[in-house]
Amino acid sequence: MIAGNRSINYLRISVTDRCNFRCKYCIPSTPFKVIEHHKIARYEEILRITRLACELGITKVRITGGEPFVRKGILPFLEQLCGLDGLTDVSVTTNGALLNRDKIRRLLDMGIRRLNFSLDTLDPEKFARITGRDRFHQVWDAILTAHDMGIAPIKINAVALRGINDDEIQAIAGLTKEYPFHVRFIEYMPMGDSDVEKQQQMLTREIQDRIIAAHGPLSPVEREKNDGPAKKFSLENARGILGFITPVSSHFCSECNRLRLTSRGTLRPCLLKNYETDILKPLRDGANDDALKQIMIDALTQKPLSHDLDSRTPKDVPISHMTSIGG
Ligand code: SAM
Ligand code: SF4
Repeated sequence: MIAGNRSINYLRISVTDRCNFRCKYCIPSTPFKVIEHHKIARYEEILRITRLACELGITKVRITGGEPFVRKGILPFLEQLCGLDGLTDVSVTTNGALLNRDKIRRLLDMGIRRLNFSLDTLDPEKFARITGRDRFHQVWDAILTAHDMGIAPIKINAVALRGINDDEIQAIAGLTKEYPFHVRFIEYMPMGDSDVEKQQQMLTREIQDRIIAAHGPLSPVEREKNDGPAKKFSLENARGILGFITPVSSHFCSECNRLRLTSRGTLRPCLLKNYETDILKPLRDGANDDALKQIMIDALTQKPLSHDLDSRTPKDVPISHMTSIGG
């Protein structure tokens, strides 16, 4: 599939808007509505949409949420997904709290070799403050178990926030000296009603300055085919890689090769634009494969050439939480 001059080969699928965590930057502390169960795309519906997307050139899928592992039946679903023709790369983004040796073994057996974990702090108390859950040790154990069992690369996503975890940027970056992990700092994106203030947002330049002050220079790492938007560097004598994902300070829209399928069964060509196309309703109404493929092709005509995160008006602010869109 083509959008402008970009070839779209990556589908990011949110399988649920539910999560066992309440990360400050992702979910508001005030009451919010979850999607009614019957409105969430069923596994067989997701599989059909993904199969058709593969026929249109999707080769890479990342499963996200909410928290994918809270959804019942996720492992058999992933097994079926991994068996789809044309998919060469399936990976999962998780908070890690529900992963254990048995589940990781099953992931490896079905061919999933790569996992992204979210981890914003190495301090158990701060972890509980950020995520609303006292689960640091479970998450850290899951990361180390995945590493021991051969998941590679392990990517660790951290959102750096002033006054919350900015004092740990150096320590989190320092993980790459000890482990072959890819540690990626993601700029906080205001997604609507999160409890994080704009002043707490930290941009990549400041994060890098703090890392350089603590660890010395950052050497650029060459990009590989299928690399995402992270700009990659390494510290001297490091085993791992540092990545910086800069949706705010430096758009990567011109290189964006992804389409999102939300947990409500809508196609979202851009995370930061509210445009969505419902594909689930036509599917449930009996649309045939060709009609569903055309919906995907048409949705991509709405993929913008750039977003305007810095200058947008309230109507541009995503109305859905990251959990339903799929971060
Ligand atoms: N629950 C899983 C997890 O935490 O990895 C998957 C879903 S979560 C929405 C996916 C990613 O989105 C996480 O790495 C999280 O840090 C990131 N994220 C959530 N809200 C964000 C925000 N407002 N700005 C930047 N990144 C955000
Ligand atoms: Fe849940 Fe992930 Fe959002 Fe945290 S970042 S609340 S773990 S979906």
